[in-house]
Amino acid sequence: MGRRLSSRFVAGMHTDEALHAAAALNDHGISVTLDSLGENVHSPDEAHRSAAIYHELLDAIHERHLDANVSVKLTQMGMDLDPQLAEQIVREMTEHARATGSFVRVDMEGSEYTQATIDMVRRIHAEPGNEGHVGIVIQAYLYRSQADIGVLLKDGIRIRLCKGAYQEAADKAFPGKAQVDENFVRLAEILVASGIYHGIATHDEKMVQATRAFVKEQGIPPSAFEFQMLYGVRRDLQRALVSEGYRVRVYVPFGTEWYPYFMRRLAERPANVIFLAKNVLKS
Ligand SMILES: Cc1cc2nc3c(=O)[nH]c(=O)nc-3n(C[C@H](O)[C@H](O)[C@H](O)COP(=O)(O)OP(=O)(O)OC[C@H]3O[C@@H](n4cnc5c(N)ncnc54)[C@H](O)[C@@H]3O)c2cc1C
Repeated sequence: MGRRLSSRFVAGMHTDEALHAAAALNDHGISVTLDSLGENVHSPDEAHRSAAIYHELLDAIHERHLDANVSVKLTQMGMDLDPQLAEQIVREMTEHARATGSFVRVDMEGSEYTQATIDMVRRIHAEPGNEGHVGIVIQAYLYRSQADIGVLLKDGIRIRLCKGAYQEAADKAFPGKAQVDENFVRLAEILVASGIYHGIATHDEKMVQATRAFVKEQGIPPSAFEFQMLYGVRRDLQRALVSEGYRVRVYVPFGTEWYPYFMRRLAERPANVIFLAKNVLKS
């Protein structure tokens, strides 16, 4: 039942299914970032096992000539147990990505991890040869994000901008959607004009439209940035953007630890619960 429910947003339980989904998206001119689902591991062994899947993915991406990179969560790499363990794991992953011409995106989790994530990515990015092989995510709902972007751009770090998916208190994050949207547009404009290749991650047509209008007005070429969307969400918009000449990358999650990811997707859009419920009742 879980497998069937989650299949709308999750590419499968195993590496091979995710690689297959990546190849199919590549066939439609869409780039991919692969995410082996999992967060908040309970032991160093679990963190090492999670990292091993990423090394396997980086090799497979290289061998199969896929247009893909990887996205990773620090709490899946042992951040809660030992931040130094998580850092060493991400460092080794970045070195592997460097050797295979790929890229590691460190996803952003709840705000208790924001500063530590930024500090870690900056340290790893600053190590010789790592430039351009590790990047970060910034969430438009946090008040601090514009200042964080200023620091990261000085280092030349690639950023994925998203609205943010965690429950945050009003002293840390804009409480209203309108304010988050306004901040998203402001930050997206800073990013696409920065001369560094960033990802604008949203399914919100208003955000997409504002970004398109801004780049046209500023004469910024579509090759200067990419739109990013989640697997199974707004496939129509993904393809429409590709046909207009924009770059699109889809975030392809897979694995048995699908539950928290799946619940965040449902929370974003209550209509998804109804859609899934209807499908389950039908089958
Ligand atoms: C590639 C990518 C990577 C991400 N990485 C992170 C990360 O590292 N950290 C983090 O906190 N968050 C991450 N997110 C999630 C993000 O923060 C938002 O929670 C999520 O994208 C929903 O915001 P939105 O911009 O799509 O707009 P919203 O305002 O949530 O939605 C606008 C419209 O988009 C459509 N839509 C949005 N979500 C869905 C959905 N699930 N199903 C169907 N339609 C939908 C609907 O039409 C909706 O009305 C990521 C998102 C993407 C696309």
